[in-house]
Amino acid sequence: MSEVFKGSFTQQEPIPEDGIAAAVEVMRHGRLHRYNLADGEPGETALLEQEFAALTGADYALAVASGGYAMATALRAVGVQPGDAVLSNAFTLAPVPGAIASVGARPVFVGVTGDLTIDLDDLEAKADQARVLLLSHMRGHICDMDRLMAICDAAGVTVIEDCAHTMGATWRGVPSGRHGLVGCYSCQTYKHVNSGEGGLLVSDDAGVMARAVLLSGSYMLYERHLAAPPPDAFEQVKYDTPNISGRMDNLRAAILRPQLARLSEQCAAWTARYRVVEDGLRGTPGLTVIERPEEEGFVGSSIQVLLRDWPDAAMEEVIGRCAARGVELKWFGAPEPRGFTSRYAHWHYAPSAAMPETDRVLRGLLDMRLPLTFSLGDCAQIARIIRAEVGAVHQAGVGG
Ligand SMILES: *Cc1c(COP(=O)(O)O)cnc(C)c1O
Repeated sequence: MSEVFKGSFTQQEPIPEDGIAAAVEVMRHGRLHRYNLADGEPGETALLEQEFAALTGADYALAVASGGYAMATALRAVGVQPGDAVLSNAFTLAPVPGAIASVGARPVFVGVTGDLTIDLDDLEAKADQARVLLLSHMRGHICDMDRLMAICDAAGVTVIEDCAHTMGATWRGVPSGRHGLVGCYSCQTYKHVNSGEGGLLVSDDAGVMARAVLLSGSYMLYERHLAAPPPDAFEQVKYDTPNISGRMDNLRAAILRPQLARLSEQCAAWTARYRVVEDGLRGTPGLTVIERPEEEGFVGSSIQVLLRDWPDAAMEEVIGRCAARGVELKWFGAPEPRGFTSRYAHWHYAPSAAMPETDRVLRGLLDMRLPLTFSLGDCAQIARIIRAEVGAVHQAGVGG
């Protein structure tokens, strides 16, 4: 009898008890709006920003309503105008091109390699087409950041990092989000900290962060921030920066602060689960695991594998067979966008020439979440199931 996995791929851990207590405290006093503070009270949101700046080593941090809002705010704050081209990854999630579109700009997609990172040769070739790159560390895969920054610096391209899947990750020991001018993070339920919705931005650039704070809806209360630039940075921009409300509130910040304090243990727990699945899948005929570079301190909150050049019907067969045994795989090659998954060809508002090598990678790309509610034993079982079903389809000769 074949085993069936019973866990839920969308079930995160509960909010830690100290986060629940802090949230209840905010509800009891009723001051949920970040600028609604009692005398001498810093407020949960300002404290969260201060703690996140310290965690990433950034001069400034700003908490906002979502990761998508953080990216759009960063684009505006660095001066992207309607009609501008913005370079970004062909392999990413819909909110990334969506953030570019939200400021009236136009995504120019850069391909993906078999390592699931941005194709740096393609980036180099396209670098003269835009002044800004919104770089997505999609599914936690970090490219050679040294080479990427060298390409962008040489071409005068400003880098904004989408770290929705790399909060807590590093490249050569530097926290993800700290190579570019601005780092953007998400606190949405499926990311590395969970407040339902939420986002964070970090930067060392006082002008950019003053604009970001004003954009986020600070009115003229920016002096209540603890991780914002000094007041004189605002003097230069406060008359011509629109207020586009997208603030974080004290309730969400209260839930997030205890989670940030535990982030490194949580990241280690994710990566331990990742390694169990990876070990279980390695050597499966027809399946390629993604080798992670030594420089990359990744967070294994999800795992991807390639069934290179398998026909679509065989991909569907594997996904169906795994689903029947309780293992939910997402496929980036599906002809239609499904659930959270879509690819550049599905974003008709941002037309792009076809990228055959990218399409080839995405056609064979399977993706799976690894929530911390899974035990290491669960992860081993999931790997056994995938291995068996990929093997069965491969052996039947449909695959590869
Ligand atoms: C989730 C996600 C975002 C945006 O996060 P939201 O908080 O949902 O707006 C950005 N980029 C990637 C790659 C994501 O997965």
